[in-house]
Amino acid sequence: GRRRACAFSKHKQVTVFGAAICFVVVFSLYLMLDHLQLDHSKNNPSSGGQLSVLQDKIDHLERLLSENNEIIANIRDSVINLRESVKDSKRVLEAGNMSQGSLEMLPSPPLVVPIDSEDCQFSARPYTKSAGGVQMSDVYDLLAFDNPDGGVWKQGFDIAYNENEWDQEPLQVFVVPHSHNDPGWLKTFDDYFHDQTQHILNNMVVKLHEDNRRKMIWSEVSYFAKWWDNIDDQKRDAVKSLINTGQLEIATGGWVMPDEANTHYFALIDQLLEGHQWLERNLGVKPKTGWAVDPFGHSPTQTYLLKQSGLSNMLIQRVHYSIKKHFSSQKTLEFFWRQNWEKDPSTDILCHMMPFYSYDVPHTCGPDPKICCQFDFKRLPGGRISCPWRVPPQAITDNNIQERAHLLLDQYRKKSKLFQSKVLLVPLGDDFRYTEALEWDQQFQNYQRLFDYMNSHPELHVKAQFGTISDYFEALRSSIASSTSGSLALPVVNGDFFTYADRDDHYWSGYFTSRPFYKRVDRVLESHLRAAEILYSLALAEMRRFGKSNNFPAVESYKLLTAARRNLGLFQHHDAIAGTGKDWVVVDYGTRLFKSILSVKRVMVSSVHWLILKDKQTFSHDPSNLFLQMDDIQPAQDALPRKTVLKLSANPISLVIFNPVEQARTSVVTVYVNRHKVQVLNSHGHPVTAQVSAVWEETNRASTEVPALALAVYQLSESQELHAAAAQYVFQQQGKHLSVNGAHQFRVSTHQDPTTPFSIENAHIQLWSSPYTGLLETSLQLKDGLEQQIKVEFAWYGTTSNKDKSGAYLFLPDGEARPYTPSQAPVVRVTKGPVFSEVTTTFTHITHTLRLYNVQGVEGQSVEISNSVDIRGEFNHEIAMRITSDLNSKDRFFTDHNGFQVIQPRKTMRKLPLQANFYPMSSMVYLQDSGSRLTLLTGQALGAASLKSGQLEVIMDRRLNQDDNRGLGQGVLDNKITANCFRLLLEKRTPSAFRFFFLHVKFLFGGHLKPNERSVFFPSLLSHTTFTYLNHPFIPMATSVDFSAIPLSPYSPLHSSLPCDIDLVNLRTIQSKDEGGGPSAEAALILHRKGFDCRFSNRNTGLLCTTTLPCRLLFQPSTMPTTDLTQLLRGLSWWCVWLGE
Ligand SMILES: [Zn+2]
Repeated sequence: GRRRACAFSKHKQVTVFGAAICFVVVFSLYLMLDHLQLDHSKNNPSSGGQLSVLQDKIDHLERLLSENNEIIANIRDSVINLRESVKDSKRVLEAGNMSQGSLEMLPSPPLVVPIDSEDCQFSARPYTKSAGGVQMSDVYDLLAFDNPDGGVWKQGFDIAYNENEWDQEPLQVFVVPHSHNDPGWLKTFDDYFHDQTQHILNNMVVKLHEDNRRKMIWSEVSYFAKWWDNIDDQKRDAVKSLINTGQLEIATGGWVMPDEANTHYFALIDQLLEGHQWLERNLGVKPKTGWAVDPFGHSPTQTYLLKQSGLSNMLIQRVHYSIKKHFSSQKTLEFFWRQNWEKDPSTDILCHMMPFYSYDVPHTCGPDPKICCQFDFKRLPGGRISCPWRVPPQAITDNNIQERAHLLLDQYRKKSKLFQSKVLLVPLGDDFRYTEALEWDQQFQNYQRLFDYMNSHPELHVKAQFGTISDYFEALRSSIASSTSGSLALPVVNGDFFTYADRDDHYWSGYFTSRPFYKRVDRVLESHLRAAEILYSLALAEMRRFGKSNNFPAVESYKLLTAARRNLGLFQHHDAIAGTGKDWVVVDYGTRLFKSILSVKRVMVSSVHWLILKDKQTFSHDPSNLFLQMDDIQPAQDALPRKTVLKLSANPISLVIFNPVEQARTSVVTVYVNRHKVQVLNSHGHPVTAQVSAVWEETNRASTEVPALALAVYQLSESQELHAAAAQYVFQQQGKHLSVNGAHQFRVSTHQDPTTPFSIENAHIQLWSSPYTGLLETSLQLKDGLEQQIKVEFAWYGTTSNKDKSGAYLFLPDGEARPYTPSQAPVVRVTKGPVFSEVTTTFTHITHTLRLYNVQGVEGQSVEISNSVDIRGEFNHEIAMRITSDLNSKDRFFTDHNGFQVIQPRKTMRKLPLQANFYPMSSMVYLQDSGSRLTLLTGQALGAASLKSGQLEVIMDRRLNQDDNRGLGQGVLDNKITANCFRLLLEKRTPSAFRFFFLHVKFLFGGHLKPNERSVFFPSLLSHTTFTYLNHPFIPMATSVDFSAIPLSPYSPLHSSLPCDIDLVNLRTIQSKDEGGGPSAEAALILHRKGFDCRFSNRNTGLLCTTTLPCRLLFQPSTMPTTDLTQLLRGLSWWCVWLGE
């Protein structure tokens, strides 16, 4: 059946299931504001401290840029506002009030975030193309993407050469044996290891030792570490000697070869750290060269991380065939890949782009696969595989060696013509190659004969040998160094290599969304792992301070963290988070993620237990009766998490809330309770603003203000009176009111005219939604004046009727999407209350919620969008959410790379098929025109596009009934009920501020800047922070009833928030060098300073942080006695790292 068997009935939707409580708490603001004042008076006691410094700067700029009076005035206003807000903070706290019967004061936030003008210059710097530099977006403008038949090299062109070209400088050939081992794809990680990988590695030790001219590279540390654990010391010593002699090289050294589209940089760093730390501990090596032959497109974030990890070279393979052809014709396949924001070569990494279709042997020796296949000696007649070009390889003998060597050399020479140097790279391998001893002999013996022949014939002017990937790059670098001036000038390339196509219109944009359920679980694990790492590191530091750890499970917790890091790392593999594995492999990954979430929750609970105890003496760890319970439970690897219901009585239970973010913050927390009369008290015993909502088998919320990385404690109890305001509801279907049963504690209104649009609002935003569909329509209005027409719709894509159809990798739609028209009119539910208001619509395939929080600051400035999607009954359908606005964005839109700060400008191109215009969205996508910017921030990686001016589109799930011929051998039919979450942010853009910075930059650069030179694109500070809040929600934990009498005390490790442009990526305890895998006394503090765009208002963001703080230690010295940073963090120019005192 194509329809879901169990569609929601309308009666089910309007039955109350339970109650939940939401609360607004101000906990640490006194402290925060005290610090703010302290900071300002401390720096300059005689006058206004930083404020007057800022004032001085502005006076200076005013003199320099007298023509920009308007801007100067704006900034001056901001400073005055800030001055007043600081001065008045005490008064605000005393008088502050929340509009709707609040019990506690909710202070007005500072009107502006103090931003150092120098911090703005970073984002306002113009893009400066280096001489001969290549910007990928220009290449896209230039190319026709016409795909003509290139002859033997189908996607390329004929290559000719002169026999005597190498007479002066011989051709140097490095044949690099490699074996591509996917940590899960058609088999699970463990099955591959058992069936193939362990044999490859075992044979490697034997076969490399047989002849010291043989070489091999390996890149997946996940496999290497598993094998290492199972081999004896003798074999380990043999491996170390192969490493020391340079016969074996570990390339990249990550836990996996990660997907570069869907991954977030937290996990990219984490898996790289895990791999590099393993290598340092066990082999004492640091990788020099990156090797990425299989990720389906390449991101500059990975490039940046490799460079900062000490690598100087890298290789990529899956790049659009037209780009490969273009780079080949320009001889620019080798280039320095540079970050978009960088002016100097400090981030440059030498990159080799493989020119042909694949990394297998037929596509690596030269342009003609029919010939190259004859030099894949695993395909010798009689073996299990053969050559599809129907000319088999021949074993090399005295009789055929001359002819064979010339045939191969001809390919080498032709391939060499695509490069500037006379050094040639020839990879030799494929998926899971070199399993059997025979295969080692076939490849290595036959190639050695060919090399010996070539090298002994000087008239051939060639030196051919086995090499590692770094051997190749070393030779290339010395060739560059010795070349006469300018003859070997490799270009600088900016940009990325998305969206990948391997042939025809086969664009790999499907995997940006495939298996979205797990793309979301990945983010949940990242957030939980990070929280657990931070809490665990802080708890260990506190224990060292107090000198008591009682029976705290330090080693056991560290093992749980290590396993979780490795499972998260494994999932970054290019067939894991990509959603391109077999169904049972997906279940294996899902189970690993699920177990890891449970593990890190255990680490969190024991760490928090220690940190919040008033009397640390009373700590006792009992795994069978945990002190705290997490507030939600994921029942299975393929099910969405569910909230646990707190059983309330007159005796209060404690709710501990962790703020995993490095800034103080006000957000909403939801807990389920079994009573609707509830009182919430903060740690001072003051009542807290709360909202009680009905649970319609879904969530509701509470709002809390918690300082950076702190733990707050609240008391929840049943009360006699109704302390918390009950939410009010409206239910409608087809423009008619519905009656509601069982909701007698709540007010269900029928007064409103059921045909007029619903409106919900908070202090910042008002929005209108359709009374028939509940979807956003008409407009979104900011209270400061900006109004934009915005409409939300859903749409279906089908797949083409051609032979090749959409699958896990490919998106091959049957034209434009068709509007989603549900067969049954949806039920629309409107909720209004003091903490949040929302509109929820239940369609057959989607439950869609628009929510506004009545919270000052960041949380109140965006619209939360939650979609619960269920397309399990569909046939070849993909469902998209489309946001249509009246922004005049033309064909331009912007997406991020891996949540890293730099935004890639995208251009929707008519010369490309629809599916080519989809790009990965790992943190955000936005549109802008001269007056405003509309950003969709995401809680999971998905594919996004802007197919029309003013329009944003996100694919939410895909169900595909067939394979797309990329080796997976199945469709995508294991869909789940999938929760997607987003924030929609509308911001006013100030072109005049741009002019200000533009002129300022012009001044700095001596007026050389041309007006049409673009600057690099960045999100606003508000956008960055909203993303962080969305992806790192508060983590609530409740004490078990048995422990309700034990006194707890809130915990706050930071003096104040970190600067608001700083991301605390992780605080990760380093493994001890001792046996046993426990923690050392060292932790890596990883901080990332984010670039942001100052053209956006920072009024009313409520951020209790500034960008003006210098790089100094913000942790209380006692909590962080020592930190040690791994090589990943050394010499970072753009990462800002503090060391402990
Ligand atoms: Zn692979």
